[in-house]
Amino acid sequence: MDHFNYKNGRLFAEKVDVADIAGRVGTPVYIYSKATFGDHLQKVQAAYADVEHLICYSIKACGNINILKFLAEAGSGFDIVSGGELYRAQLAGADCSKIVYAGAGKTDAEIIEALNAEIGYFNIESEAEFENLIKLAKKTGHKTKAALRVNPDVDAKTHRYTTTGQKETKFGVDIERAHDIFSKYGKNDSVRLCAIHVHLGSAGKTVAPYVEAMQKTLVLIEQLRGDGFSIESLNIGGGYGADYETDTAPAAADYASAIIPFVKGKNLKLILEPGASIAANSAILLTKVLYLKTGGEKEFVIVDAGMNDLIRPPLYDAFHFIWPAKVGKQFVPNKRTKQPQIDGLQIVDVVGPVCEAADFFARERAIPPVARGDLIAIFTAGAYGFTMSSNYNARPMAAEVLVDGDKFTIIRKRQTYEDLVGLERGLDIQQ
Ligand SMILES: *Cc1c(COP(=O)(O)O)cnc(C)c1O
Repeated sequence: MDHFNYKNGRLFAEKVDVADIAGRVGTPVYIYSKATFGDHLQKVQAAYADVEHLICYSIKACGNINILKFLAEAGSGFDIVSGGELYRAQLAGADCSKIVYAGAGKTDAEIIEALNAEIGYFNIESEAEFENLIKLAKKTGHKTKAALRVNPDVDAKTHRYTTTGQKETKFGVDIERAHDIFSKYGKNDSVRLCAIHVHLGSAGKTVAPYVEAMQKTLVLIEQLRGDGFSIESLNIGGGYGADYETDTAPAAADYASAIIPFVKGKNLKLILEPGASIAANSAILLTKVLYLKTGGEKEFVIVDAGMNDLIRPPLYDAFHFIWPAKVGKQFVPNKRTKQPQIDGLQIVDVVGPVCEAADFFARERAIPPVARGDLIAIFTAGAYGFTMSSNYNARPMAAEVLVDGDKFTIIRKRQTYEDLVGLERGLDIQQ
């Protein structure tokens, strides 16, 4: 599933010992594997080879421009949710006609930037947004295409913070209202409404919600076509499961074999927006043990990464497999799982230095014994890891390193104290 493996008890990212990276770059550090990104993208591309399709990797999962660059070279389009992400995609050399733009709150400035870039589709989330897009397209003399984001009212059975396809969300419009919206805007020639978009939410672990969403949207598409509207593509969003535990997520081919029959022969281009399923296990967050501490009945391992570096455990109750980067033979994990069946483990809470009780990576977790100074890997940290990091507690953001075979490159420098205050300088308030 990825290229982070133990050899002789030492953790390697592809062919690089992660301890060598820590020695050069320090900790905490995000370590990405180029081959893992490439493998995941290639698997999705291969899975849909039978139908006309476009893969738009979701930048918000992990948006370093050096990563976007090789994904673009490998043929990926991009799913963006802001002007900043458009800027990143452009810097990375993206083909803008392969960009789709979602988000319930696009500003005028962002819309104009995307019109100027001639992106592929605006994914429209409300009537008010549509009216504004038409106005701005006319004003700037651009023509563009739009997909209507509908809520198929399917429960993706994910965490309540990551479910987006049900009725009570801020995203998209209820599927029953799609007809009215097409009647109103479906013949506009500044903004051609010619696609349907759905996105069920993130981190689904089964194929079933996609099948249900396909059934509902295909009925809608047939009806709209019957009413004389031309629908050229269906964007089924992202949210495909990633292997946070070994072999727990459906493979790209499993999703494809359930989804493809719905669109095959329908003259419908399929668009996908995978984020986590491509990025998640393409990285680890490597951190160092600062202190061991006993508190009441609990043993704490305090590390130098914090919730400002990786917020998924407190935010989503997310599970990340955590293991020392150097272990004795008996502790080499054969599987990343919540309950490893290995003797001699200790039960600990792995926590960071941030002044919040929510600053934890794992609670009551079995890991091999560790000591001050040991390196610990937090696995499957590539998606919504660095992109959600912050400077809370005035902590400089971690460095990002990309491994390619036996080489590694710093693709984002560790922030300095000066980076923390640079934008505040020279603005002294006169009293
Ligand atoms: C976040 C998002 C995605 C990506 O979701 P993943 O769970 O990372 O695959 C795709 N499409 C839209 C519209 C999104 O908001």
